[in-house]
Amino acid sequence: MKIALVGIGKIAVDQHVPAIAAAPDWDLAATVSRQGTVDGVPAFTDLDAMLKDCPDIRVVSLCLPPVPRFVAAQAAIRAGRHVMLEKPPGATLSECHALESLARAQRVSLFATWHSREAAGVAGAKAWLADKTLRRLSVTWKEDVRRWHPGQDWIWQPGGLGVFDPGINALSIVTEILPDPIHVTSAVLKVPENCQTPIAASVGFYHPQGAEITAELDFLQQGEQIWTIEAETDQGTLVLSGGGARLTINGKETLEDTGFSLTGEYPRLYARMAQVVGDGDIDMDLSPMRHVADAFTLGRRVSVAPFIE
Ligand code: NAP
Repeated sequence: MKIALVGIGKIAVDQHVPAIAAAPDWDLAATVSRQGTVDGVPAFTDLDAMLKDCPDIRVVSLCLPPVPRFVAAQAAIRAGRHVMLEKPPGATLSECHALESLARAQRVSLFATWHSREAAGVAGAKAWLADKTLRRLSVTWKEDVRRWHPGQDWIWQPGGLGVFDPGINALSIVTEILPDPIHVTSAVLKVPENCQTPIAASVGFYHPQGAEITAELDFLQQGEQIWTIEAETDQGTLVLSGGGARLTINGKETLEDTGFSLTGEYPRLYARMAQVVGDGDIDMDLSPMRHVADAFTLGRRVSVAPFIE
């Protein structure tokens, strides 16, 4: 299937382009970006022009930051294209619901991707937790924003999510592996004086069986970068580390130690998109985003030192 990539920036170049190139199902037939291009691929700077000029491209994958994503997704769906959305699927929940309704009305497929759910250890963690009684779960997601998101001003603007941009990846895993639904009960959001979004956050959750669930997110981590979820149960402890790439159960590694890598995640997302389109499906789980929205609604805001890149 011919596919167009929209928003040729960091994640498009690092992951989407190589994943599409390696996939038998997909042919990268156009890009849409004001500045970014991909060698050998017809480049447009305007989405409407691409949609009009390329009726044979039936699928559009959006790699834009969250705020501009709705207008682009709406245009593509209205033009009868199937759409794949980078995480988070929009800037607000209402936008995502609107896109889902529009996709149903237009009878096209829509896939809200959560790349961290495709990490190597996630399926094993879900299977192991399915019949355990959870006592405690802690998320520790601490990375250096200057190293991973250089020059990305949109992260600090309204709708950019701040530390929840990586934090939502942890929540996408938690919502996938836990058998029971949880919800946010408290949050502290540390917001730099010169930014609109938090640089660190502590979040507490309700769990129906009373397990203690917390998330500690930090964007100023120096040294070791930590993307870990630890779950203590009646039958021992599970640790997902490296952003979901490593799974340890009761101290024993269950997978080869590959460390943090998005490498396998994007090929799996594109294979899933081929399936979603083939089945005429809509795959739109908004639960990770709902928790972030709730943390913003309930969160106590603490002003901290300005962020200087
Ligand atoms: P990015 O490089 O800053 O932006 C992607 C591209 O979107 C830009 O190069 C820009 O291309 C285009 N764009 C269009 N409107 C824009 C606007 N108003 N502000 C900024 N850029 C705009 O971002 P990214 O890191 O690729 O992230 C894009 C999405 O992927 C985000 O939702 C992020 O959460 C997700 N993601 C990122 C990573 C990562 O490691 N960076 C990992 C997984 C997922 P033109 O100027 O050429 O139009």
